[in-house]
Amino acid sequence: MPAIHVFDETIQYDVIESDDATEPRIDVDIHGVRIILPAGSEIEAETVADENAQWILDKWREYETHRQRAPARSFEEGEAFPYLGDERRLSIETADRARITPTTFVLPATAVDERGIKDVLEELYRREAREYFQARIDHYAAEMDVDPGRLELRNQRTRWASCSVQRTLSFNWRLVMAPPDVIDYVVIHELAHLRERNHTRRFWQLVRQYDPDYEQHVEWLKENSVRLIFTEEDL
Ligand SMILES: [Zn+2]
Repeated sequence: MPAIHVFDETIQYDVIESDDATEPRIDVDIHGVRIILPAGSEIEAETVADENAQWILDKWREYETHRQRAPARSFEEGEAFPYLGDERRLSIETADRARITPTTFVLPATAVDERGIKDVLEELYRREAREYFQARIDHYAAEMDVDPGRLELRNQRTRWASCSVQRTLSFNWRLVMAPPDVIDYVVIHELAHLRERNHTRRFWQLVRQYDPDYEQHVEWLKENSVRLIFTEEDL
């Protein structure tokens, strides 16, 4: 992988040629640095990297700090995982059914023996997420007088939710780790898309009407999304 050297840092980057790009672009995120060049361009990635070295370094450091805040997950008894904004501990017990209490994720010992903590915990999260999201969708759909389609659970790395033209709502199940007011913001955001397709001024006015503190919630998601990972792959 090519790399730039700025001060004492060495930053590796990928070079991607794109048919869609009309000019060179640099993407920096938690996964690294990519330089995107228009297909067949004469411009050298190295030149783009050198000319923007300081900017790349600043961005890269920002994400590096971010990355270090990501929790390490080992899926062991007693480990804490978030649910509705609070940390709860994994507890393996003699139980018929997995459940979440105010302090604990209760995982049935037999299921854990068969399939392991990680699978049993993910299944529990997904079940609770579906129920919780659906209840909030029903609540706000009535309040906002919109008619959403069905709910799908996903695990997209880069988005929390989306709303298709067929009115299907897709939610990242990991969002159930966030505080309730942040989840409500995402629900309101997606339902608002049933009235306003794009992020116009009217769209944000609508969101504000149902979530006056939405800007804080947007900010919370930006700052804390790294803490809502289930495994390293979600980063
Ligand atoms: Zn949107």
